[in-house]
Amino acid sequence: MPFKLDKIDTDILESLLEDGRKSFRQVSREIKVSTPTVKARYQRLVNIGLIKAVLPVIDLGKIEDKTGSRLDKIRSKAIKNHNIKLSKDAVIKLSCDYCKGPVHGKPSILKFAIFERFFCCPSCKTLYKEKHRGRIQSLSGKDLQA
Ligand SMILES: [Zn+2]
Repeated sequence: MPFKLDKIDTDILESLLEDGRKSFRQVSREIKVSTPTVKARYQRLVNIGLIKAVLPVIDLGKIEDKTGSRLDKIRSKAIKNHNIKLSKDAVIKLSCDYCKGPVHGKPSILKFAIFERFFCCPSCKTLYKEKHRGRIQSLSGKDLQA
């Protein structure tokens, strides 16, 4: 199965959950994996939709609302997000980039430039390619076979 997390993936995710603004080089030094590997793994985690965005972690304890209540009391749920335990071999659920349905088993994959898109079936892949032909061609800089 191509979409199980391995130790490198979880190390990268844990490192970025601490501070999402770390450079790839910093992460690479921390987890003792080369910078290009960190970059490639990071991009893959973005491509499969696991990393949705890198967001600032706000210390809500520093903010008070009008009544003087600290926001971290109110928003403690939001903070809990940063305590997710990631485990090796976790299986990532993919949804089809064309029909948005779940992908069971082996996905059809379309790669262009640094991007990968995943589809539930070859026809979704073909339809996606047709729909986004211009963008895909300009990003990959070459003609795609239909
Ligand atoms: Zn589909």
